[in-house]
Amino acid sequence: MTQVPLYRDVDFAAGSAGDIFRLVRSGTATSRSALARHIGMAPSTISLRVDALVRTGIVSEGGDEESRGGRRARSLEVTASAGFVGAMDVGAHHVQVAIADLGGTLVVVEDVPVSIEDGPGAAVEGLWTALGGLIERTGLDPDRLLGVAIGLPAPIEFPSGRVVLPSFMPSWHNADLPGLFAAHTTIPVLVENDANLIALAEQSEEHPESDQLLAIKLGTRIGCGIISAGRLHRGVGGAAGEISHTSVPGTSTIPCVCGAANCLESVASGGAIVARLVAQGYNVTTASDVVELGRGGDAQVVDILRSAGTSIGGVLSSIVNFFNPRDVVLGGAMSASAPLVAAIRAELFARCLPLVTNDLEVRAARSPGDAGVRGACQLILEEVLAPARVERLVREVSTAP
Ligand SMILES: [Zn+2]
Repeated sequence: MTQVPLYRDVDFAAGSAGDIFRLVRSGTATSRSALARHIGMAPSTISLRVDALVRTGIVSEGGDEESRGGRRARSLEVTASAGFVGAMDVGAHHVQVAIADLGGTLVVVEDVPVSIEDGPGAAVEGLWTALGGLIERTGLDPDRLLGVAIGLPAPIEFPSGRVVLPSFMPSWHNADLPGLFAAHTTIPVLVENDANLIALAEQSEEHPESDQLLAIKLGTRIGCGIISAGRLHRGVGGAAGEISHTSVPGTSTIPCVCGAANCLESVASGGAIVARLVAQGYNVTTASDVVELGRGGDAQVVDILRSAGTSIGGVLSSIVNFFNPRDVVLGGAMSASAPLVAAIRAELFARCLPLVTNDLEVRAARSPGDAGVRGACQLILEEVLAPARVERLVREVSTAP
């Protein structure tokens, strides 16, 4: 299957239409005169390129911007309604599907029943149908769907997007989702680890470029996304943040593909806690069921949650000492469990250096319910609005008959 070419890391020239688009989108320069000043090119050259961008429809010019005396400058902005992107966060028990406009605003978020148990081929059919249904119900023009990003609870090889040794869906090993989606569409489809998506969604809005952040996904499994100096850190092959297979004291209650004895995931993940409670006669199926039981104050459940939190906090403390992040953000269904989170926090502050904890914030994700799809929308917008891709669009429109 031919893969769709990606543009997110392709170079672009300073002052090109793609560069101008980037400056407008980031808010760095949002009028013709500001762009000319910022780039240091003749206003006439800038104006020609702005005109070309406006013709593509993804930039619009309107309103008056405060100018420095004299004539008021017209302000430029990305036309949020010129297209939209799709996002899907695939979990063990459900899939969350979302649509965002080009300004990054979520238009709609929905949970849909798509089974991952019949393998990646069937799941891709289901995901594509689910997104199509959502687009139709939302009243959007399917031709304006510009890209899709999918989050999976598994290591994802970078840049190929292949799934590597997922711990609870073995039939997905080596699955090539972008390749499978290519049977349905020619738009870019990106696949990313779900914890990496939470990390992207949780980047600070004020100073994204200086972020040092760890996002911990506490769901049926355990994942970790890393933002270092404002950028997602994936490692050489995409396995960075795979903390879940660190050996910990305790006894595993679920099998794990990693081969490590008593790994964090098989001892302390939502899936492991469910298995432990089922063995003790509790009627639970999902991580959320466990959170609910803990909230009810069942002493035995609270004990198990505390002990899992201590295991997770112990593994995190080495990583936090090593990485010295500003934020440790907790997301996923299990992050709603107060006893689990309290134990993680206690362990971190007890075992990390004061130099590390002085500026450390351990917090819940800002929007735990949809952090995954928010991050996915951000990721795919960086691709569909990449300067080099915009540059290509401008060329296509200007040579169109
Ligand atoms: Zn493991």
